[in-house]
Amino acid sequence: PYDTLIVGQGPAGCAAAIYTARKGLRTGLIGERFGGQIMDTAEIDNFISVPKTEGAILGRHLEEHVKDYPVDIINDQRVDKLVPAVEKGGLHEVHLANGAHLKARTVIAATGARWRQLGIEGEDEYRTRGVAYCPHCDGPFFKGQPVAVAGGGNSGVEAAIDLANLASHVTLLQYDDKLTADEVLQKKLATLPNVTIVLNAATQKIVGDGKKMTGLTWKDRKDGSEHTLDVNAIFVQIGLLPNSAWLEGTVDLSPAREIVTNDRNETSVPGVFGAGDVTTEPYKQIIIAMGSGAIAALAAFDYLIRVPNA
Ligand code: FAD
Repeated sequence: PYDTLIVGQGPAGCAAAIYTARKGLRTGLIGERFGGQIMDTAEIDNFISVPKTEGAILGRHLEEHVKDYPVDIINDQRVDKLVPAVEKGGLHEVHLANGAHLKARTVIAATGARWRQLGIEGEDEYRTRGVAYCPHCDGPFFKGQPVAVAGGGNSGVEAAIDLANLASHVTLLQYDDKLTADEVLQKKLATLPNVTIVLNAATQKIVGDGKKMTGLTWKDRKDGSEHTLDVNAIFVQIGLLPNSAWLEGTVDLSPAREIVTNDRNETSVPGVFGAGDVTTEPYKQIIIAMGSGAIAALAAFDYLIRVPNA
């Protein structure tokens, strides 16, 4: 069995693997896609100490760094289920979609999250060329330019407030007939002169010149009228979905289906830790996911030296 089996090969999982391997733990690192979300990212300007990089380059560096250590890398495998140890100090079982089972004294769940998409024409074509999901990441690229936000919940309204500081104008498109964000955020939004709120707006199509996004079309759900909007970007804020289905019924999940972790990244199951975007840790960013992976790894090491084998 492994001392530590890490599920998920994004920034959080890779950081955890380097830390546990450096502690001399027998480490496995399993996942569906090495690199995780960064493989969908074009430019990255907020990975501190590296002023500019790209997702694919950072992904390659992550892989090289992990390979400096004796980590058992198991690629292209989907995990279906966790069967926790019956007693503290026992072995957990991780079940793979291919039918195999892996055993480990500690498990670090680092399966990340994915942004809910609009599912409209042009969204795939202009992703990273105007269609964006992360205001902290991509907001500064649209300084002084008109942008849109899709979504009137907390994340959509927060994004609009954030972007109003940078963009020339922000149009917030909300599908429902009212915003659902907290009152305090709605009040703040209403004070901003360069924000327009459009309710009952179904975003229909992203348009562009083949190279980058130049606008979008939306339909008024009340009167059926169709409209165009010239914007250089749309920030899609209609939900972040944690990849936690494989843990349903074992570790405690939040109402948003994130793994509930404490400040040592412990979950409700002894010997099972969470790291990165799949957890309740706030602010989903690469540097935060890596720090979270390091905490989970050190906490797993602490567990292993304290808890006797069952
Ligand atoms: P992820 O990167 O999501 O990795 C999860 C891993 O788990 C993957 O390997 C996945 O294949 C695997 N996995 C999931 N489910 C299973 C399963 N059932 N079985 C096996 N494996 C599984 N952050 C920044 O700091 N700066 C940026 O500029 C930036 N830009 C971004 C741009 C885009 C388009 C996107 C989508 C995100 C961006 N982010 C950015 C956010 C950043 O990418 C994430 O915060 C970070 O990747 C989270 O790391 P993670 O390891 O927790 O999860």
